[in-house]
Amino acid sequence: MRIVLVGPPGAGKGTQAAYLAENLAIPHISTGDLFRANISQGTELGKQAKAYMDAGNLVPDEVTIGMAKDRMEQPDAANGFLLDGFPRNLAQAEALDGILQDADQKLDAVLDLEVPEEEVVKRISGRRMCRKDGKHIFHVEYSPSKTDGVCDICGGELYQREDDREDTVRKRLEVYHTETEPIIDYYKAQDLVVTIPALGKVDEVTQRAMAALEREAA
Ligand code: AMP
Repeated sequence: MRIVLVGPPGAGKGTQAAYLAENLAIPHISTGDLFRANISQGTELGKQAKAYMDAGNLVPDEVTIGMAKDRMEQPDAANGFLLDGFPRNLAQAEALDGILQDADQKLDAVLDLEVPEEEVVKRISGRRMCRKDGKHIFHVEYSPSKTDGVCDICGGELYQREDDREDTVRKRLEVYHTETEPIIDYYKAQDLVVTIPALGKVDEVTQRAMAALEREAA
């Protein structure tokens, strides 16, 4: 399956994407994770992306689309992928359509994770990420690690993302409304959108999303 996951920052995209990708045996492709990996490796791409990310802005399309395309063309993504955080504006959505068309592929579903705005800020300010791989995500209140500051899964150090501070979160939300929300209508016109209420326990949301995907595939 080829799936796009959308939703405001703090909707739980990264958490859900990891579970869904595992259940569906497809790679989880997060442009945010790819940027963060580039930053920690000190690459040129990482240097270009960092200032935009720290300010809560989108990284320019010229950089983002090429990076996403390269990742989607890796052999492990030949039979499907779950895109998390891409596309994030109309130009990227159109570019993705072009990439898929060239490869004679199409999207199967766009999952829209829906969360009330006040919940988003609460979720993000307590979020802690594992420094080792960036995929293990905790929350100081909702899903705390057993030992403070240490990842339960791999023992890595937990940290707060630079762009998870409150002022940057508000900027990211504004960018989400103006830049990213229009892609939901774009995909509605293609009859691809499935809205998933994303409040509640993590595994309940995963189950809702899996059930919706099964209905889409039927
Ligand atoms: P995320 O981990 O998905 O919340 O992304 C973190 C940050 O990376 C965003 O706030 C953007 O600055 C940047 N980013 C991630 N994906 C994209 C994208 N598709 N287009 C532009 N910027 C992105």
